[in-house]
This record gives sequence, C-alpha cells and structure tokens, in this order.
Amino acid sequence: MRWICATLGRGFSLVNISSAIFDCSAPDLDSCPDESLPEFAFIGRSNVGKSSLLNVLAGERGMARVSPRPGFTRLINIFTMNKCWRLVDLPGYGFTHGARKDRARFNEAVANYLEHRTNLCLVFVLLDSGLTPQEIDLEFVQWLVRRAVPFVLVFTKTDKVSPASVQTNIAAFTNRVSAWFEKLPAVFTCSADIGQGRQELLAVIDEQMAAINAVSSRARLPAESRTLQTPLRAHPKRRPDLNRPW
Ligand code: GDP
Repeated sequence: MRWICATLGRGFSLVNISSAIFDCSAPDLDSCPDESLPEFAFIGRSNVGKSSLLNVLAGERGMARVSPRPGFTRLINIFTMNKCWRLVDLPGYGFTHGARKDRARFNEAVANYLEHRTNLCLVFVLLDSGLTPQEIDLEFVQWLVRRAVPFVLVFTKTDKVSPASVQTNIAAFTNRVSAWFEKLPAVFTCSADIGQGRQELLAVIDEQMAAINAVSSRARLPAESRTLQTPLRAHPKRRPDLNRPW
C-alpha cells in the first residue's frame, strides 16, 4: 500500500483544493477503488447538509449533488482530491425503506465500508446544529465508538439558528455521548451557506495527511494504519463490541 503523496513536501498545505476528480459511485465495499490513497468520509442524517458542505469544501459547485429530496443518494461516492487523498461521500442514514426493523438504520454497504476499509483515516459525522440530540445520530455515534472507527463531530447549518442555540445543542449532544469516551472527539461547526468552517475542516485533513506522511517517510505504513494515533482520535472507554447490530 503506497500512501506517500508525491507532491507532498515539507510545508505543503492541502487546505487549497486544486483538483477534485470523481472516481466512482460504489454500491458496496467490493466496488470501491484500491486502497492506495487515504480516505476521509462524510456522513450524516439525510438532509443534514452534507452535499452542500462537500461542495463548499471542494470549492466546486456540483461536486456532490445537493439532493432535491432526503435519502436521494444511496451510493458511496468517491472523489480524488489534489491527487493525494480521497473524499468519500457516504449515503445519508435515517431513511430505511424496506429495511428490517432489527437492522441498523444505515445501509449495509456503509457499515462494511466503515468497518473494513483499511485506508479510511477519519469520518466526519455531520449533525444539524439546529436540532437537539437525535436518537439516530446518537445510535450511529455509538456504533462508531464500538468499532473504534476514528471520527470527529461536525455541526452543520450554524447560520440557521442563534449562536447560543448552536452551543446549547452541541453541549446537549456531547453530554449524551461523553460517557462513551475517555476523551471526547473533536467538535467543529460549519455553514455551507456562509462558508464558515471550511478552513478548519480542511486543516483537519491536512493534519491527518501530515501525520500519515510522517509515518510513511520513516517506514511503509502497516496494514493496521487506521489505528494511527492522532490528536483528533477519540478514545473509547469500552472494549469495542464487535457484534453487528443486525
Ligand atoms: P444532504 O441531504 O445531507 O446532502 O443535504 P443537502 O446539502 O442536500 O441540503 C439539504 C437542505 O439544507 C438544502 O435545502 C440545502 O439548501 C440546505 N442547507 C444545506 N446546508 C445549509 C447551511 O449551511 N445553511 C442553511 N441555512 N441551509 C443549508
């Protein structure tokens, strides 16, 4: 597995996106491209503002489609950014037409991707800053914690409600999840409408890429590279329970 980005040198910053190339829309894990590049995945409840945020991050309108209705895209959409890393647009969860009641409320392809994709570096879990903690978001975060999938929390649409409400909703959410961690995951806020949070989120990717390249420059990265410890990694309290919820 080659992780070193040829164009990455000392001081190189990924904060500027110079290219965003669509790779594929994968219906399942097996259809995803090879694992030669680090991947950063974005996921949230349908309508959380994921497509809008991805377009803002990439600086290219239309990179990820802004959905006309919730649950529109069910495929794993993969883009190569700056020829160095991949941005992975995961299907929104929360819409379970046809799913059995005892199944997790996000699709199996997503679960497989999150559990088994070895080049997955970090998941950006998007949450609507205008809402009190939603059970499905809590359920999803707990699922990630139990599988030790590294993630950060990103509260979207901050322009829609007052800053005080945003802070109240963030505090309510982090209070609900705090028992699951020794160290809480990093929390970010953003608004696609006013472009807030773009630099901070890209800086997270920049930081992760720098950490990966520091390791890669010393030695070939081991297969279990996703366990790379970074400052952003949350530390789950409990031993992951690897039983699938379905
Ligand atoms: P997705 O289903 O998670 O991909 O969500 P979309 O990006 O398609 O957005 C869902 C709806 O929320 C659309 O009507 C967007 O215009 C709106 N939206 C997305 N981001 C923002 C934001 O930052 N602020 C506001 N006010 N609306 C947003």
